[in-house]
Amino acid sequence: MQRSAEAIVVGAGVIGASIAFHLTRLGMRDVLILEQDMIAAHATGRSGALIRTHYTNEPEARLALAALPWFQEWAERVGGDCGFVQTGFLQFADPADREILRDNVAMLQRVGVDTRLVNAQDIANIQPQLHVKEFEVAAYEPLSGYADPVAITDALIVAAQRNGARLIEGATVTRLNVEGGRITSVETNQGTFTAPIVALANGAWSVPLVRPLDIVLPIYPLWIEIGFFSRPSAFARGENGHLTIIDRANGFYLRPEEDDLTLVGLSAYNHPLDNASDYADQHDPHFVTMTRRQVSRRIPALQAEQYVRGHAGPLDVTIDSRAILDRAPGVDGLYLAVGMSGSGFKKAPAIGLCMAELIVNGAATTAPIRPFRLDRYVEGEPIVGNDYRLPRDAINPDATTAWQKHGLVH
Ligand SMILES: Cc1cc2nc3c(=O)[nH]c(=O)nc-3n(C[C@H](O)[C@H](O)[C@H](O)COP(=O)(O)OP(=O)(O)OC[C@H]3O[C@@H](n4cnc5c(N)ncnc54)[C@H](O)[C@@H]3O)c2cc1C
Repeated sequence: MQRSAEAIVVGAGVIGASIAFHLTRLGMRDVLILEQDMIAAHATGRSGALIRTHYTNEPEARLALAALPWFQEWAERVGGDCGFVQTGFLQFADPADREILRDNVAMLQRVGVDTRLVNAQDIANIQPQLHVKEFEVAAYEPLSGYADPVAITDALIVAAQRNGARLIEGATVTRLNVEGGRITSVETNQGTFTAPIVALANGAWSVPLVRPLDIVLPIYPLWIEIGFFSRPSAFARGENGHLTIIDRANGFYLRPEEDDLTLVGLSAYNHPLDNASDYADQHDPHFVTMTRRQVSRRIPALQAEQYVRGHAGPLDVTIDSRAILDRAPGVDGLYLAVGMSGSGFKKAPAIGLCMAELIVNGAATTAPIRPFRLDRYVEGEPIVGNDYRLPRDAINPDATTAWQKHGLVH
């Protein structure tokens, strides 16, 4: 087995796959991806996989916007089918946040996002099954939707492999070796691999890996749950006629799944973990009841629909709930693309590209990533969004504990 590489990427979720793919696009041939389990085994394979460009802050909106054409033109740019379905997207906010929503839409339009404010009558024309109060408004994005996170990760890795990259599954990186302030190699359960460049894309598992290097990442593992319900009969079967929706006024998000299901998640229903891997067997007995209650406020028909299946997934949440995309401090050649905070999927094509530009060219040009630097926390410059409130009854008690314990700002 070849034990050296030009660059090593740790983690074969969508972020690691994207970094590896873009490194090969920018000319690197010998990229080695090390994955402790198998591709898309954790957050990525369990993702809701909503794709939207609505953000409450400019840095994330720019990444999401830069990522969108990749989903739209997947076959030409990467190869294969990424399962992108352009459903259209509605973002609701509490009516008391109407001005915030208006300001955010203006900010997004300035950035170049195709979005507009829609009123109750417009919404009735777009998705008539929703319960919308007369004075409510929402932000509408015609180009957004969802995609298949496993297909995407696989396609990125296959494309990277076509360009010379290698993937080793079942390879757990246990130590990062540094000499004279430079990364030199990584230790794994399959021996040592040397490379002058190592990019960490391994979620909350990165925290213990960098701690011996005196690098402290303010990332906390949480778990969340999503459920699949039979689709209310008033909604069309198939991909069309069922929008992707985030509803902060009622604390949920949803999208169509297959021909006759609706995938639903709760915006603020999460639980702290001591160890990132411990999410796997979790299930909250209140999840289904809570989901029905929150969603049926907007879609009354969901109250009677059947819960078909569901699963838990891990999140790697930072103290401002935004990713860390940076060089590692004090270790030349070591890079960080971690702390995706529950919304890394839709930005992954752009995050991988920005990281590859940083590694190969010394700076990211596709989108500005300086706001995502690790030092922002000590410099007192966390990324702060013009955020929407959540209803109190959409937040579970131990999520509040996690928020308070870790000092999350929204
Ligand atoms: C239920 C759920 C719903 C979500 N919904 C959305 C959504 O709608 N839209 C959106 O944009 N995002 C969503 N997200 C978030 C999104 O899925 C994640 O941000 C994204 O998948 C993170 O990708 P990743 O590659 O960083 O992490 P992961 O997919 O977790 O990949 C990290 C990989 O690193 C590997 N690894 C860890 N440690 C090591 C080691 N020491 N050595 C080798 N390998 C290692 C792991 O095995 C893992 O495969 C959701 C997440 C969940 C859980």
